Amino acid sequence: MGYTHTATSYSSSSTPSSGSVGLRSIEGSIQHVDLNLLRNHSDLFDTMFTLPSPGDHRQVNSNHRTTVIDVFEKDKTLKSTLGLLTGASIHWSSIEEVYPILELVDKWDCHHLMRRIRDHLSTSRIPREQSLRFFALAKYLGWTEEARTTSKYTLSVDFQAPEHAAILAQIPTKDAQALIDLRRRRSSAFRKLLDSPTRFTGGNSSLYFCDTCCVAHPQDNLWLNFKKALSAELARMPCGAKIVALTEGAGSWRESDACWAARCPTLGCEAMRFDRRATLLQIRHCVEQLPCFIE
Ligand SMILES: [Zn+2]
Repeated sequence: MGYTHTATSYSSSSTPSSGSVGLRSIEGSIQHVDLNLLRNHSDLFDTMFTLPSPGDHRQVNSNHRTTVIDVFEKDKTLKSTLGLLTGASIHWSSIEEVYPILELVDKWDCHHLMRRIRDHLSTSRIPREQSLRFFALAKYLGWTEEARTTSKYTLSVDFQAPEHAAILAQIPTKDAQALIDLRRRRSSAFRKLLDSPTRFTGGNSSLYFCDTCCVAHPQDNLWLNFKKALSAELARMPCGAKIVALTEGAGSWRESDACWAARCPTLGCEAMRFDRRATLLQIRHCVEQLPCFIE
């Protein structure tokens, strides 16, 4: 059987060498690895070399007297993983780079490396930038806290977009439902807060009472329409970024502009119907109170 040797070898600097083993990729190249390194980091290899019977894929390369094991991995994945085992630093910019290495680390039972990768990923930008994919990965690997933390970042993901809907469809129903439930909980809580007669007295009370002329007027639909627009926007984008931007003075909504332009109908009064600053501040407080994480 033909295969090529590479010049790369992987060894543990802290442990005396006990020989090496060749790991052959599906491309046929062989990576020579210190046996101690493999056994110390991989439960799979430790078990394999502890058992009296060798594994199915072990064979002796007669030319080099080296045990060669077919690992059925691509060169790139094998080299990257072995590099990490010898302490190479982690540089990943997307989760797609991580998948094959994680699969191999999981297959080889490399607990220490798995912990290192987990810590690295959790503090990287990947959970924010690829939240749905990272959430799926965290759930798959049983990283409960990471999945919970990342659920917040999924709130800015459009689940209706084809590329995201496809990922969501691959997540187990229970986990995908948790993300959808989080959105529903936010929408429900937001509506309740917006309906509060103590938070938004001018809009939610049965009558509108003008503090300037001390006259009560029948309630109009201005606040009701604004509330509908706010609720619709949170349903469209559950993170509420556009609502927060509005409370910070960015953007213009027809429904909010109608509120700010309204005046008291009492002849000669014409006081402002709504306190714009106080109303926006209350709306901002409502958004900040919404649940951010899956249960
Ligand atoms: Zn008035």
